Amino acid sequence: MKERLNEIEKEALKEIEETQDRKSLESLRIRYLGRKGLLTQILRGLKDLPEEERPSIGQKANQLKTRLSSFLQKRLDEIQKREEVSVGEELFDVTLPGKQFPVGYKHPLTQVEEEIVEIFRGMGFQVEEGPEIETEYYNFEALNTPKDHPARDLQDTFYLDLPPDEKGEYLLRTHTSPVQIRVMERQKPPLRIIAPGSCYRADAFDASHSPYFSQVEGLYVDEGVTFGELKGTLEVFAQEMFGRGVKVRFTPHYFPFTEPSAELAISCVICQGQGCRTCGGAGWLELLGCGMVHPAVFEKVGYDPEKYTGYAFGMGIERIAMIKYRINDIRLFYENDMRFLEQF
Ligand SMILES: [Zn+2]
Repeated sequence: MKERLNEIEKEALKEIEETQDRKSLESLRIRYLGRKGLLTQILRGLKDLPEEERPSIGQKANQLKTRLSSFLQKRLDEIQKREEVSVGEELFDVTLPGKQFPVGYKHPLTQVEEEIVEIFRGMGFQVEEGPEIETEYYNFEALNTPKDHPARDLQDTFYLDLPPDEKGEYLLRTHTSPVQIRVMERQKPPLRIIAPGSCYRADAFDASHSPYFSQVEGLYVDEGVTFGELKGTLEVFAQEMFGRGVKVRFTPHYFPFTEPSAELAISCVICQGQGCRTCGGAGWLELLGCGMVHPAVFEKVGYDPEKYTGYAFGMGIERIAMIKYRINDIRLFYENDMRFLEQF
């Protein structure tokens, strides 16, 4: 019987030591010290033992009972202490401020593009899009820019290393004007569209040039469209964009795909035409190119140039944004510096 008690002691101490939670500790207590527990049974069975063994076994069993009790209590204290610590770590203070998620902004170029689009949509223009990978035909030929034209210089255009198809070599479009051709090929007049999008030119990357930039193209074709309408539409645009007080000036220019062609300038938004550093003392800021669609372009898409006339215009979104927000370096738009972007 003594050996049995020794075994119980050894086993119980080991189990108590290994217990990690209150629940298993409680079941150990019941197993050893409960009303039907192992020790209780032994104590109850004392009367069946030979009389000479009873005192020593009884004493040993009672000592073991006390020992296990204190051991269980000690282990319970340890477990409780550990639980308090971990509860403390998870304590949740509802008065603390929440996590701050930074608010996102639209890129200034996106904002300006949307503003341009909205102004022209208000005047009945519909938005069209075209591919950024174009062929020589759509980027140049159909726009009356023949093979020997300087704009087709290899140095200005990113040609792609792809096998050419019947529309010529593949390239990254150098302007959004190919969208004019694609829309006219599938639609008959009247049509009134704007086409915002990305363009690519093998330009230097400096304060006023970028190999990547974006444009908005405009095209209006119908019977009897006049240069006067072109002027009126673009004047409304300039004043919506830069304020009612802005004056516009059209000066003759050259583009292969329009005839006559013009450049639109606005009175300098900084000096109001007095002359300053931004406008180079001229009082005017060049804004965009425009003109009446060249009859050769109409012939390419199967429009009768005797019946239809139209105007087209194209503007750099970066340039509009730079004038609007008085930004003097185009590279700021592409550097993703949050200190810059957060101002818009
Ligand atoms: Zn000025």
